[in-house]
Amino acid sequence: MTSSARSLLPSLLLAAGLLASACGGTPASSPEPVTEATPEPTPPPLPDVIADLHVDTITQIIEQGVDWNSSRLEASLPSLEAAGVNVIVQAAWIPRGVANPRGEALRKVNGILNMVRRSRGKAALVRGPGQLEAVLRQGRIAVVIALEGGTALAEGEATLRELADLGVSMVGLTWTEPSAYADSSAEPRAGAAGGLTEAGRAMVALSNDLGLMLDVSHMSDAATLQTVALSRAPVLASHSNARALADVPRNLSPDLLTAIADKGGLVGAMFHGPFVVKGRPALRSDVVAQTLHLVRSIGAEHVGIGSDWDGIIQSPQGLERSARLTELRQDLTAAGLSGDELRMVNGASFLRFWRAVEAAKAPGG
Ligand SMILES: [Zn+2]
Repeated sequence: MTSSARSLLPSLLLAAGLLASACGGTPASSPEPVTEATPEPTPPPLPDVIADLHVDTITQIIEQGVDWNSSRLEASLPSLEAAGVNVIVQAAWIPRGVANPRGEALRKVNGILNMVRRSRGKAALVRGPGQLEAVLRQGRIAVVIALEGGTALAEGEATLRELADLGVSMVGLTWTEPSAYADSSAEPRAGAAGGLTEAGRAMVALSNDLGLMLDVSHMSDAATLQTVALSRAPVLASHSNARALADVPRNLSPDLLTAIADKGGLVGAMFHGPFVVKGRPALRSDVVAQTLHLVRSIGAEHVGIGSDWDGIIQSPQGLERSARLTELRQDLTAAGLSGDELRMVNGASFLRFWRAVEAAKAPGG
């Protein structure tokens, strides 16, 4: 029962003559037992979604032996709270050449689950948009787990199902080396080898069936286009910028941006300096320029923020940790984003996107 219902109850009972008034003393005869009405609780309002679509915090927590509160982290829990971030996508990243990539994925996923457990209730794992909304209404931080690197899917579909059962909701089929499923933007190959493999096509279909979000960041251009075309659900590039402003293979060409948006997808502007601007150290104003470019190119409903904090090597000046997202938001407003556009970029776009992925999943999937 809500506290307002509780305070209302005595006056209702008084009005019905079922409770002694403060001045009236005890009724002469025993009253009939009262069955308390249980009004439908009104859920707390859904706060604005403030999302970061990609951080590598668990890698730093493991490598540095610190916890989520450490000031050595760019996306520490206190820093996220300072910026009002309430949705954080934590990457289970698979480095190149690890001897046991599936084991590495399990280690990272379990590490993320432990981060959540040790947050003293401040954060909660979410596996879908409904859970995300519920956690946000409770005033907590929703943690989404992403696999970054298809090499982890050593036993194919069985490993994907295993990771999904553990709580993985987003899947990137490659990092900087080709996997058995997709080619990478780091060293794209010509011809058929440069896209999705047959096994990759099956993995896209299974991801759709299971309601997993497909992440094309790090994929080659051909693999990205094939994934967008093949997927039943929209896809996202969780941490990728526009090549128009920083022409590197890791970023997205105008054609790729349009393809992702036309399918209902999402692109998260990312902060690694050399992918924000070429030829000089990046400033926060360069991230503003990238974000504005994305919004003006494909619409704010297709744009979010995917910092890559705790995984990037060079943070832009003025944007060194999560707490500084408040300043980025102020700059985006000053640069001309409307209130509605900013709400979408902050995170409403991500909730829209995840709902669309959920709607496309197989019945019972
Ligand atoms: Zn990455």
